[in-house]
Amino acid sequence: MAPTPASDIPTHSASRQPPVGIDLGTTFSVLAYVDQAGRPVTVPNAWGDLLTPSAVSFDDSEVIVGREARKLSVQSPDAYAECFKRDMGCPTYRRPLRGLGVPPEVLSGYVLQRLKQDAEVRLGPIRQAVITVPAFFDETRRRATQEAGRLAGLEVLDIINEPTAAAVAFGFQHGFIDLAKGGVEKPLRLLVYDLGGGTFDVTILEIAGTQFRALATDGDIQLGGKDFDERLVSYLAEQFQAAHGVDPRSDPQDAAQLWLDAVDAKQSLSERTRLNAVCSHAGIRFRQEITRQQFEELTRDLLERTETTASLVIRQAGLTWEQVDRVLLVGGATRMPMVADMLRRMTGKEPDRSVSPDEAVAHGAALYAETLMGKCANSANPRCELVNVNSHSLGVIGVDPKTLQKVAVVLIPKNTQLPNRAARVFRTAQDDQRSVCVPVVEGESHRPEDCIALGQCVVKDLPPGLPRGTPVEVEYRYGGNGCISVSARVPRTQHSAHVDVHRELGRNLDDLKSWKTRLCGHTGS
Ligand code: ADP
Ligand code: MG
Repeated sequence: MAPTPASDIPTHSASRQPPVGIDLGTTFSVLAYVDQAGRPVTVPNAWGDLLTPSAVSFDDSEVIVGREARKLSVQSPDAYAECFKRDMGCPTYRRPLRGLGVPPEVLSGYVLQRLKQDAEVRLGPIRQAVITVPAFFDETRRRATQEAGRLAGLEVLDIINEPTAAAVAFGFQHGFIDLAKGGVEKPLRLLVYDLGGGTFDVTILEIAGTQFRALATDGDIQLGGKDFDERLVSYLAEQFQAAHGVDPRSDPQDAAQLWLDAVDAKQSLSERTRLNAVCSHAGIRFRQEITRQQFEELTRDLLERTETTASLVIRQAGLTWEQVDRVLLVGGATRMPMVADMLRRMTGKEPDRSVSPDEAVAHGAALYAETLMGKCANSANPRCELVNVNSHSLGVIGVDPKTLQKVAVVLIPKNTQLPNRAARVFRTAQDDQRSVCVPVVEGESHRPEDCIALGQCVVKDLPPGLPRGTPVEVEYRYGGNGCISVSARVPRTQHSAHVDVHRELGRNLDDLKSWKTRLCGHTGS
């Protein structure tokens, strides 16, 4: 297919580079900007598609991104990567690529780079971007996303939560953000149910004036359309095995083809109530009828997990379903009829499909990017203010004076409105102690080993001669953008000590070019 000519989207005025909004999805990524009329517009990629598969392949000379890359999943599975968003925050992608461990940031970086390059053909040079993440992403995964943007040559203006972005797009579409008029009159409460390819997010937000305030959020970064695909793959493979005595998944290429066919069948079952799926292996072509009802039974527990999470969130927000005005469907997997059926039953409301489930997140990010630039330029541009809650508790590791065991102490509990601060008094353990070191963690458990270490808070340069047990006041600030900063003071001496949070996982990786040399130059032996 030939790329769509670039003329169907007006080029942005050369005088100003528009910032873009990018939905860096587990399965598909989308780039949007705000046109001169102030409307968010998705920019098609070189193929003319609005969605670019978040998939990367390597061969002996090239890095291939998107639709072409996905095709290569069958030919060379060991040089193909997808779903790397699930591995963000881990040192490397879950399996070696051409024999190399590759950081997920690098793979996401290639996707972002491709989106940027394709959009530049239409928009001119792009520098600044807002990138979205699931609300449930922890600090480490947010940092990794930021690093992916840097690798792609983008200045990341901000990282925002996907459900918030979807709510901004919804607000815009319905004229709630008529920013000139100061926004919506009566506050509106939205439940954003986002079931994508690899992650599930549910958030309750309130739109009031030009403010988008998250009330509660929860989710599962290991639940999405992919898991529904897997059930179908297993079912078809088992049927094949029962009929022919061999598992088609034993051959990596047949397994990859089966996955592609299963995704296709799953999507068709959103339209049709029954169809024939095909599975080929060892020279056998096997047809198997599958009904929508069978598919729904195979995946019932997955849907129920989303239901449980949604009920939990409404309770955390201290609301009942009657107090929620709209239920917004976001993410491609919400096209499965069982999703709307479940939400209708649970909430007593007809789910709202007024925003495009594929584009809403990118549109919201683009609108937000525009307001950020407006603020920078101090112009009269539209504004919308985002108020977040933290999706994970922030704490420190201390020593229980009774048991002398290490325990994680929550300072700012989950679902607290941000920005927020909490103070804690620590005491020096020895005479003449010149520094205090407190590990900062994220997580819900009291067991330090179950929490994620964010770094160390080190109070240095204490004055000499302090007796043991001298109080040191440490204050934690959780910024509106999710960033954590720490300051400390010794009240007795009025000494403000120097404090650093050293992030253990915010890393600076080699550039995409050198990874390309390693991956494409590698013979893969
Ligand atoms: P992400 O944000 O995680 O990249 P998307 O919101 O793009 O994900 O949704 C992708 C998921 O939606 C995939 O699992 C895809 O198979 C699924 N999907 C897309 N269209 C349909 C459909 N018609 N029926 C069922 N699932 C669908
Ligand atoms: Mg998504």
